[in-house]
Amino acid sequence: MAKLLICDSVAAPAVEAMRAAGVTVDVRDTITPEELMGVIADYDGMVVRSRTKVRAPLIDKATNLKVILRGGVGVDNIDAEYAASKGIKVLNTPAASSNAVAELALAMMFALARELSKADASMKAGRWDKKLFEGAELAGKTLGVIGYGRIGRTLADKARALGMTVLAYDPYVKEAGLVPLDDLLKASDYVSLHLPHTNETHHMLSTAQFALLKKGARVIQASRGGTVDEAALYEALVSGHLAGTALDVFTEEPPKSEALLKLIALPQVIVTPHIGAATVEAQEKIGDEIVALVKEHLS
Ligand code: NAD
Repeated sequence: MAKLLICDSVAAPAVEAMRAAGVTVDVRDTITPEELMGVIADYDGMVVRSRTKVRAPLIDKATNLKVILRGGVGVDNIDAEYAASKGIKVLNTPAASSNAVAELALAMMFALARELSKADASMKAGRWDKKLFEGAELAGKTLGVIGYGRIGRTLADKARALGMTVLAYDPYVKEAGLVPLDDLLKASDYVSLHLPHTNETHHMLSTAQFALLKKGARVIQASRGGTVDEAALYEALVSGHLAGTALDVFTEEPPKSEALLKLIALPQVIVTPHIGAATVEAQEKIGDEIVALVKEHLS
């Protein structure tokens, strides 16, 4: 019977479904890196989310491992090429959280447009600042989507349904209607990033790009820390050129550096702790997709 180690949290019904499929499953979702090094040789498969890092020294110890399953988009926490060189498959669940992230980006746009965090904080502080909170509507505005993959397209569909004009930039997607990045930046009221963090996308939005944005534009960052230059974002906000930003991901998670804490503390900044995929539905879909992968590769 194949043995599977679950290192990060996975929905309980998914664990039961794996057992029902004839796999021996050990759930150790608080396992430390040191403990993992000691036990990994016993397993044919492992399931990770974001917490567990699967780097070369661990892979060297994983002498029986056939498959590493990552619940989520991307495999940033796994040395995937090294694993492949050892004959270990690395698989993830890329589509399960697309709707959840697109909905968070949309929620962030609404929250910025109507200053929900500020209005909430002001009322809880005992005030009734009705005149202070004249917001803006999303209908009739232009959304620029950078990275037109699963999440970018899902967000674009929702934004069009709200009466927004959508511009998209993605050099790897060949289809009508996409625009150069500079054109997107010049025309957008909201810009939302939905692309991986690579050498090429590092600081995709920095000082020069913020300068191209209209005064009063707003930026949504729910992709990966590093695609936005946070120091340049801080300057663009403090100068008053950008009206606001909402951030779900950061170059440092959790953020501890003084520069990041200064950015987060700005009143025109809304932050969430990397919760893009954190919905009941996305977690269920991730669980279902992992079960399907376990059945295919281990049972
Ligand atoms: P995807 O692979 O379907 O789409 C990514 C798109 O980015 C692709 O179409 C690709 O061509 C494009 N791209 C690559 N390089 C580019 C560049 N230089 N310029 C413009 N576009 C470029 O991925 P997805 O499922 O849509 O996810 C998008 C990102 O969202 C992921 O990379 C992941 O980092 C992030 N994500 C965040 C959360 C969260 O919790 N906030 C959850 C899931 C995914």
